[in-house]
Amino acid sequence: MNHTSETRVALVTGGAKGIGAEVCARLAALGHQVLVADLDFEAAAAMARELSAAGGRASAVRLDVGKPEAITAAFEQVEREHGRCDILVNSAGIAKVFPFLEFPLENFLATMNVNVTGTLLCSQAAARLMVKKGWGRIVNIASVAGMRAVGSGRTAYGTSKGAVIALTRQMAVELAEHGITANAVAPGPVDTPMTQVLHTAQFRAEYSKAIPMNRYGTCGEIASAVLYLVSEDARYVTGIAMPVDGGFLASGARGL
Ligand code: NAD
Repeated sequence: MNHTSETRVALVTGGAKGIGAEVCARLAALGHQVLVADLDFEAAAAMARELSAAGGRASAVRLDVGKPEAITAAFEQVEREHGRCDILVNSAGIAKVFPFLEFPLENFLATMNVNVTGTLLCSQAAARLMVKKGWGRIVNIASVAGMRAVGSGRTAYGTSKGAVIALTRQMAVELAEHGITANAVAPGPVDTPMTQVLHTAQFRAEYSKAIPMNRYGTCGEIASAVLYLVSEDARYVTGIAMPVDGGFLASGARGL
């Protein structure tokens, strides 16, 4: 894959664990300056230490994407310390499952706040820095749950991820003239701390059966799609939501 030899400054929200952590590792391996931004600062700092020990350039940023003032402060810090933000990967996200008829409003609002408003505000803050350089890459981690219903209980999660996909399209249209692309990756289920808590053994078995490749994805398989979208090879790709799902969306009739 054609990755520029130029060093980029890349900020990954939710970079301490799961998909975000793998994205951080892959970006660091390419020589980029990686900012591991997470609510869990200790875990972000540990991740940054691990990447630095492996020869990468990484540091941790304290960031709760659910708090607009924290986003402003984090990107001010990025501008002060690095003068730029070339790549933004919005991986921070939360999910809880409740039956539709009892779905708690407070959880709906909290999920929309982190998954949608957080993605919007981080992208806005990063794009303002990217505009100054005339180049940028934004990748939002959406979900297949934003493209079809996935079992029961995902009222807030599915709605938020559908909104992230719509937001990605809007950003792509308005940022293209500045040399910035905005794309989403829509993973199927992936083994991460999130799904270890959320997916029961029964749900896991049903979900796997509904996937033509008959298994969950890995963080590495999702990170590969992200790495393509931030590469030079993807310079003419913008506004898409790329499923990485073992064929789940292609196969509507297998249940779940
Ligand atoms: P995870 O829970 O394993 O890791 C998420 C990371 O985000 C954690 O480090 C957590 O501390 C951080 N985070 C949570 N809330 C935050 C906040 N308010 N501010 C900053 N950081 C915050 O999750 P994951 O499974 O790696 O998921 C990453 C992204 O991929 C999410 O957006 C998720 O919705 C999406 N996704 C995951 C799956 C899956 O099956 N795991 C499938 C589709 C999409």
